[in-house]
Amino acid sequence: MRADLDRRHEPRRIILLGPPGAGKGTQADVIASRLDVSHISTGEIFRANVDAATILGLQAQSYMDSGAMVPDELTTKMVSRRLNEDDVVDGFLLDGFPRNLNQAEFLDEASRTTGNTVDLVLELHMPAEEVVQRLNGRLVCGHCGRSWHAQLNTTRVDGICDTCAGPLHQRDDDREDSIRRRLELYEQQTTPLLTYYREQGKLVPVDALGPIGTVNDRLLAALDAHAKTDTTARR
Ligand code: AMP
Repeated sequence: MRADLDRRHEPRRIILLGPPGAGKGTQADVIASRLDVSHISTGEIFRANVDAATILGLQAQSYMDSGAMVPDELTTKMVSRRLNEDDVVDGFLLDGFPRNLNQAEFLDEASRTTGNTVDLVLELHMPAEEVVQRLNGRLVCGHCGRSWHAQLNTTRVDGICDTCAGPLHQRDDDREDSIRRRLELYEQQTTPLLTYYREQGKLVPVDALGPIGTVNDRLLAALDAHAKTDTTARR
C-alpha cells in the first residue's frame, strides 16, 4: 500500500507528543528508522549526560530525579546544539521536546532561521489512569536504553534485555511521587501545545492504547495519510 506513495512527500520533521509512559520512546525508534531521520529524545540526552557526569548532567539531575522539568534555558541550549548537527539536516523526530509553550516558540523561531519547519505533530493519546499503571511497571535497559514492561512488554528472561542482554532497572523518576509530578506537569504545561499545533493545522491525535504493534500501525497510517494529503495539495 505504501509503495505507491511518493516518499518525497513523507513528513521529515516530526514532533511526537504524549504523556510520560504513552510509549513515545519505543514508537519514536520505529518511526525514525522507517523515515530514516534522527530520533532526538531530550530525556535520553539528559540521562546520557547524567551517566557521564557532565556539567549539563549535574545541573539537570536533581530536576529529573524529582520529576520536575529541567529549566528551559538549559534545555533549549542543548536542543539548539543538537539541531545544528549534520545528521539533522534531512529531518528529525523530536521526542520529549517541546514540553511547554516557551519551548515550542523557541523551536518555531529556530526553524524559521534554518528553514527546517515542523511538518507534523503526532499526539499519542492516553488516559491518566493507564499512564500510572504503565510507568509503575516500566523497566529500562541500563545498556541500550530500550524500554520494557513487567507485565505489558516482557523480556524472555526476567531482568535481562532481549535486545542486548543488558540488565533492566526502574528509572529513578518512575517512582510514584515522581510519576504524579510528571503527569501534573504534562497536564499543565504540555497539553496547551495540543491547541498550539492544532491551530497551526499540524496536530494528528493517535490512540496510544493497545499492543505496541497496533499503535505503531496507527502511527504509520497517520504518516501515510499526511504524505497523501500533501501530494494531493501539490497537484
Ligand atoms: P523523558 O525521558 O522524556 O520522560 O524525560 C525525563 C526527564 O528529563 C523529564 O522528567 C525532565 O526532568 C527532563 N526533560 C526531558 N525533556 C525535557 C524538556 N523538553 N524540558 C525540560 N525537561 C525535560
